[in-house]
Amino acid sequence: MKFKDLRIIPPILKALEDKNYSEPTSIQAQAIPHILQSKDVLGCAQTGTGKTAAFAIPIIQHIHQAPYANEPWAKIRSLIVTPTRELAIQIGENIEEYAKYTNVSHTVIFGGVKQGAQVAQLKKGVHILVATPGRLLDLIDQGHISLKAVDLFVLDEADRMLDMGFINDIKKLLKILPTKRQSLFFSATMPDNILQLSKDILNNPQKVEV
Ligand code: AMP
Repeated sequence: MKFKDLRIIPPILKALEDKNYSEPTSIQAQAIPHILQSKDVLGCAQTGTGKTAAFAIPIIQHIHQAPYANEPWAKIRSLIVTPTRELAIQIGENIEEYAKYTNVSHTVIFGGVKQGAQVAQLKKGVHILVATPGRLLDLIDQGHISLKAVDLFVLDEADRMLDMGFINDIKKLLKILPTKRQSLFFSATMPDNILQLSKDILNNPQKVEV
């Protein structure tokens, strides 16, 4: 199996070649076709499996191919929520690399640092926002972020998110997100409370696991 067989577009294939990725990992081969077909996905996968690229590649492709991709003022089309700043930064670095031959823009926001630089990045307009929950809700409350144009939402590391006490933040976020959207939900484990949360977020999901 090659990335080309997954119908990945040439600018992303070129970026993957630069990274010397010879073939998709199992989670990528399973998830990417569903995501490109606009299906919701429930993914059971840990860090280290290639999970980040499994959602980042189709998100970049989805935006690059959309008619609005070249509008001068980018709106946030995809929101990726992850529990820690380290994960947020890693996801941002991955997007940077896979999107380097496209016009798709992104930024990363997280707590524990001053918000000024993050707000300045948001003001420029971005297609993909990677965020931790607390800072995301803060900047929404302050009017620096609108989620009105989001049509693809990713909840990453859902089990860690609940372990860290973010359940109420996630519930608040779900009330703000457009209901007409595609959603991807990833967790390393799937205990009952996580499955219940996934049901609140996903619509008829395709299940993938490694
Ligand atoms: P992740 O599970 O997303 O944290 O990814 C784990 C590591 O695997 C990261 O360093 C990625 O750069 C790398 N990786 C992701 N996809 C591939 C692939 N198809 N081939 C080789 N390495 C990959």
